[in-house]
Amino acid sequence: LKSILKDPSLLVTKALVAGEWVDADDGTTFDVTNPARGDVICTVPDLGRAETARAIAAAEEAMKDWAARTGKERAQIMRKWYDLMMENQDDLAAILTAEMGKPLAEAKGEIAYGAGFIEWFGEEAKRVYGETIPGHQRDKRITVIKQPIGVAASITPWNFPNAMIARKAGPALAVGCGFVCRPASETPLSALAMAVLGERAGLPKGILSVITSAKASDIGKEFCENHTVRKLTFTGSTEVGRILLRQAADQVMKCSMELGGNAPFIVFDDADLDAAVEGAMASKFRNNGQTCVCANRIYVQSGVYDAFAEKLAKAVNALKVGDGLKEGVEAGPLINEDAVKKVQEHIQDVLDHGGSIVTGGARHEMGGTFFQPTVLTGVTQEAKVSHEETFGPVAPLFKFETEQEAIAKANDTIFGLASYFYARDVGRITRVQEGLEYGIVGVNTGLISTELAPFGGVKQSGLGREGSHHGIEDYLEMKYICLAV
Ligand code: ADP
Repeated sequence: LKSILKDPSLLVTKALVAGEWVDADDGTTFDVTNPARGDVICTVPDLGRAETARAIAAAEEAMKDWAARTGKERAQIMRKWYDLMMENQDDLAAILTAEMGKPLAEAKGEIAYGAGFIEWFGEEAKRVYGETIPGHQRDKRITVIKQPIGVAASITPWNFPNAMIARKAGPALAVGCGFVCRPASETPLSALAMAVLGERAGLPKGILSVITSAKASDIGKEFCENHTVRKLTFTGSTEVGRILLRQAADQVMKCSMELGGNAPFIVFDDADLDAAVEGAMASKFRNNGQTCVCANRIYVQSGVYDAFAEKLAKAVNALKVGDGLKEGVEAGPLINEDAVKKVQEHIQDVLDHGGSIVTGGARHEMGGTFFQPTVLTGVTQEAKVSHEETFGPVAPLFKFETEQEAIAKANDTIFGLASYFYARDVGRITRVQEGLEYGIVGVNTGLISTELAPFGGVKQSGLGREGSHHGIEDYLEMKYICLAV
């Protein structure tokens, strides 16, 4: 990997704790592997609670000066960080693809997306406005100011090794918080590379720490039990989110939770079918189906069901599967063997419930964790895939008759993150967008992620929003000041 980087110093094998690049106190390490090739890229330190506590203490100390700076002063450093990420986009993308497997073009897109959060929230640092409220008595003046919440701790998954951290670090650092992150153990290298660039941009020592660790639950406990941490921000499964919420309850800690999804993608009879296929490909097969906003259930109205299935299968068959570092590859491997098993289990379950395979359905000839992009038809609400996220390249097509039925089936889940639908009738579009119980609705588009919009879920998909001017609120506390004159 080092040999293909323009700046090999971005490949770091030490953790960043309290402003120093360190090994674990006990010297232990864990392997980072390339899922396309199955080989070990390098090892990184396996930190524990003691190092994490030091990082938290340093973040609190560094905040004293960082939070006292003007928004503009912090914004200038954030802007520099953004510029450095974009200047090093190719290298950051290569590191990301090597550790995670997504195609290079998608990895580059993720770097730009992640950097966008650093840029956006840096700019927002200048606009942390308070409020004045007319007093309740003649001699009273009411003002509301907003202040950084305190040290923020983050836990993130492997599917967006850069952007999931950037969209938490962006608002936290912009408003003056200290930030301690624990990247997924599958993908620590992207976080470390981003931190190198943060240092070069001028982030003060200790304000940002990166805890590489294979002991996720230990780090989670330190985050939840350390009194200095005031905010826990997590992206991952609903299952782990529940554990962390329970742990965080002991300190009544503020939490942002970006949890699982089970996105419906609805195609109505009046949809532009080619556009719907394009949207379904983008939504379902981006990152090989491994995102929490990937279409998980595709509902197609009976009048266009067969035509849609045929067109989708054709597009799926044209996908180029391979090592993400190779030119032109559109679908990489799955992250690990467990992911392959889940995909196989969901496909078998559809078959057991009377569905059939239109294309794909088996491991790919490339071996390892490569899997054939798959389209299934005749899928019913009884199938596992209707209430569990597959997190893989499987497009299950459900048939429906009426608009009410589509909305009811789409909402028949504990999740409520992203949803999508294709239609042209303006009355229908209005009814359906209002009827879907989701935090995000894509209408006639399969791509909804941008730093400019509030990303987040309802129901058991989470708490809080990331991105847009709303996203900054998760890292601020308001203070009401009552002045008697
Ligand atoms: P995914 O399937 O996307 O990896 P998980 O919710 O299992 O989703 O993991 C998300 C992140 O949370 C990962 O970095 C993982 O290591 C971490 N994690 C898993 N279990 C715990 C835990 N008990 N406490 C803290 N972090 C955890």
